[in-house]
Amino acid sequence: MEVEVNEIDELLVELIERIAGELGVVIYSLGIEGEFTDEQLSQELGVEINDVRRVLFALYEIGLATYRRTRDDETGWMEYFWSMNYDREKEIIKKELEKTREKLSAKLELEDGSVYYICTNGCLKVRYEDAMELGFLCPRCSGMLEFLDSSEAIRKIREEIDKIDELLKMLS
Ligand SMILES: [Zn+2]
Repeated sequence: MEVEVNEIDELLVELIERIAGELGVVIYSLGIEGEFTDEQLSQELGVEINDVRRVLFALYEIGLATYRRTRDDETGWMEYFWSMNYDREKEIIKKELEKTREKLSAKLELEDGSVYYICTNGCLKVRYEDAMELGFLCPRCSGMLEFLDSSEAIRKIREEIDKIDELLKMLS
């Protein structure tokens, strides 16, 4: 069970790193409770305020952070009060996994539903019908077009989907 929990943590870190970079992982890992401003965070971490803002908005995009804003009466500037949505982690990871699963399913359908031929010199990959029309010769190098065995690729996609299903089950 412990291994599985770590796996979900890893997914979360991966996701944050992808959308908000390393600084995103650092900021998110601080475990900040309650509201804070980008200025506070920038000073505390000794990081440019623009970098902090970029990270916070990236986290906001996927739902890991929220803000409320008020206008400062004196300066007329908008002030952002941020907070982290640590309680939404699971839900967000689940959504990401579902997105990936959809993409994989579409890919699987494409691979599974067609027979492909490839040029033995690596120029192109075409469907069977197109290969036939070309007389099984590559239009670029005149090399032979050979049947492409995609069973390995299909097996890998299936494996990935199974893995995601397992993770989703754990998250539900
Ligand atoms: Zn070729």
